[in-house]
Amino acid sequence: MTATLERPDAGQQADIDFDVIIIGAGMSGMYQLYRLREQGLKVRVFEAGTSVGGTWYWNRYPGCRFDSESYSYGFSFSQEVLDEWDWTEHFAPQPETERYLNYVADKFDLRRDIQFSSRVKAAHFAEHAHAWDITLEDGATFRSRHLVAAVGPLSSPTYPRVEGIADFEGESYHTGLWPKHPVSFEGKRVAVIGTGATGVQAIQEIAKTAGHLTVFQRRPNWCTPLQNRPITKQEMDEIRASYPEIFRRCKETAACFIHTIDPRGTFEVSEGERNAFLEERYWSQGFGMWQGNFRDMLIDRKANKIISDFVAEKVRQRVKDPEVAELLIPKDHGFGTRRVPQETHYYEVYNQPNVKLVSILDTPIERITPTGLKTTAAEYEFDMIVYATGFDAITGSFDRIDIRGASGQSLKDKWKGGPSTFVGVMVDGFPNLYMVMGPHTALGNIPRSIEYNVEWIRDLIAFMNARGLTRADAKPEAVAEWYEFVKSKGEGLLSNEVDSWMTGVNMNVEGKQTRVLARYSGTAPEYRDRCDKVAARDYQELSFG
Ligand SMILES: Cc1cc2nc3c(=O)[nH]c(=O)nc-3n(C[C@H](O)[C@H](O)[C@H](O)COP(=O)(O)OP(=O)(O)OC[C@H]3O[C@@H](n4cnc5c(N)ncnc54)[C@H](O)[C@@H]3O)c2cc1C
Repeated sequence: MTATLERPDAGQQADIDFDVIIIGAGMSGMYQLYRLREQGLKVRVFEAGTSVGGTWYWNRYPGCRFDSESYSYGFSFSQEVLDEWDWTEHFAPQPETERYLNYVADKFDLRRDIQFSSRVKAAHFAEHAHAWDITLEDGATFRSRHLVAAVGPLSSPTYPRVEGIADFEGESYHTGLWPKHPVSFEGKRVAVIGTGATGVQAIQEIAKTAGHLTVFQRRPNWCTPLQNRPITKQEMDEIRASYPEIFRRCKETAACFIHTIDPRGTFEVSEGERNAFLEERYWSQGFGMWQGNFRDMLIDRKANKIISDFVAEKVRQRVKDPEVAELLIPKDHGFGTRRVPQETHYYEVYNQPNVKLVSILDTPIERITPTGLKTTAAEYEFDMIVYATGFDAITGSFDRIDIRGASGQSLKDKWKGGPSTFVGVMVDGFPNLYMVMGPHTALGNIPRSIEYNVEWIRDLIAFMNARGLTRADAKPEAVAEWYEFVKSKGEGLLSNEVDSWMTGVNMNVEGKQTRVLARYSGTAPEYRDRCDKVAARDYQELSFG
């Protein structure tokens, strides 16, 4: 225990509105609420949106759907939910997932403790009270012993850093802030800016009805077939029967997906065998090509080159115009070293007469104009601009809240040179603050990691309550050690040599132009093992008060 800290007195205790405040009602916030309420705690969730779902509430753009197999993504904690809910597609579209999360919220009566349309603006730790003072955008304030930030790793949309966005007179939408009303592309001249995972999904859909679609691509990504299909009633029964096996598998794999890395090295098989394997992987379902490939794909440059060349050949086969095909093949990073977008006829879209690809690598967008946009090479007119420009990932939603710790230091300042945490959940100097899906935690097939993080936080709070403890802080040496561990796990990984949100780079966000240690790249089982040990040893890495 920290010698210098004093227990809050009885008067200060009485000021406390909630045992726990949770920011965010995505899957993380929903499950955290469920688990803490189970412990008899008084909990309040503040959510900026008007309903639950987080990612699946905000991202209503056409084509939005899972890249994880639906049945590996849903919550695993409730047998009743597993028994009652039928997924209709192997990779459910956004409306289905939103429906699913609303069903879960209703089933467990979660809404009664969630305050919607409530964006948290500030969170300051009141040292004398061992509590967090939370301020909403409307000025309302609340005091809570503990604060759980379930703000989402991909929930702060970013726009391109160009002038004139507000001047455009046509329709314009960001994919991560898509409106609830129907949007028609019928006969319209549409621009899509961005070709990441979201852009790829949206482009496929918009190209079906747009009068003309112009895609502005800065850097191409390696995309592979999703192979989505409906789930029949009989298939759903089989899936339901195999839930224990599905979740067991997700627990064992490096990134919590049902796909397992092949134990063989790329050069341990004959060329014929290798090509047959890659062919099978390429056309397999979901992340099979990415998460189920040869074990050395992301650490051996030569192996990675072979696999990249294989995928490049597929693009050349699928895109008729060789110049367009070359523009669509990444030249600055190897296959799998950035997030791999999943596609259904994405490449074939560029064979359509109503679709044009414009590379803005050499001729960047200079500004958005009232009637369209202007690159350094040409001016374009549009009826609609779609910004598929992604998110200020991982730390973005934390940066947007004025979070101040015990000494008054802001979290944003503390993380200026890159985030540092203890097990991805706590930050030294910010007592009683816990992050679900914060930096330096295991991500992968995210709900599996959410469930683990949430339960770890629940257990820590229960541990404190059982002992009458009111303050928990990560010891700085434990944070330093975790940082070194995370760093060691990233060594030798080709993905850490590439600019991406996974290395903390976002050209559209000020101060995010250089790579930092943004994420944990070790395996999820190893992560969980470390966290389990912390709990088993009574949290020696934390100081309590
Ligand atoms: C388009 C898209 C597709 C994806 N597909 C997959 C997939 O197939 N597989 C996978 O594993 N992961 C996927 N992800 C990642 C996805 O974000 C996670 O799977 C998961 O939904 C994260 O849940 P969460 O609750 O942690 O965060 P979110 O779902 O992002 O929820 C966070 C919530 O916090 C709220 N919030 C943030 N700041 C504040 C504030 N200051 N005040 C009040 N409320 C606030 C937000 O409004 C939001 O509702 C995808 C992400 C996107 C964007």
